[in-house]
Amino acid sequence: MSRLDELFALARSTKGFMPELEGLALYEAARQAGERGAGTWLEIGAWCGKSTLYLGAAAEASESLLYSLDHHHGSEENQRGWEYFDEDLVDPYDGRLNTLPHWQRTIASARLELTVVGLIGHSAAIAAHFEQALDLLFIDGGHAEAVAWADYHNWGPKLVAGGVLAIHDVFADPAEGGRPPYEIYRRALDSGDFLETGATGSLRVLRRR
Ligand code: SAH
Ligand code: MG
Repeated sequence: MSRLDELFALARSTKGFMPELEGLALYEAARQAGERGAGTWLEIGAWCGKSTLYLGAAAEASESLLYSLDHHHGSEENQRGWEYFDEDLVDPYDGRLNTLPHWQRTIASARLELTVVGLIGHSAAIAAHFEQALDLLFIDGGHAEAVAWADYHNWGPKLVAGGVLAIHDVFADPAEGGRPPYEIYRRALDSGDFLETGATGSLRVLRRR
């Protein structure tokens, strides 16, 4: 099995919220970012590492470094009583959701530990102290209004000209899903700073002019 097939197979068996077709499109977008050379990449919203594998596959091939950011306690809709709750991810120590051990196992079994670096914490807190320019930014963190907009405003400006911005869970029709990812996607396009280069399922890929 090729290295890519190995990583894609692992992605298929990893828990998460990245359908395979969208994951492959995410890989393709990252591969294009990698064509510009070894870069510094960031994913917001790691969960158990499913999307991390698609990005990590392209990062490894281009010798880029992928930061994978998450506080690992889940979003609103992942909590007990909500739609996407998973009992198996609860830490008996404190009864909170904790996806970090799962994410770590994913990265270790993928042998991506020299390519992927976890940033464990709240997105806004990290952004305030993060100075590196980004060649790729994948926004798939909290989808609540304030969180999604904070991710756009805090991290978007760190993306270099020519850099790739990917946004997940973009639904034009409010009946299909929450609005904030769609709203930040619209804002990015309306700002005139981005060109859309791909759309697969709810994944949108843009490139900074
Ligand atoms: N990309 C993942 C899914 C991410 S789900 C996959 O492929 O399966 C969204 C994630 O965002 C959750 O793991 C949640 O813990 C994280 N998250 C939500 N709000 C956050 C915040 N403010 N800071 C850091 N992580 C956050
Ligand atoms: Mg998502």
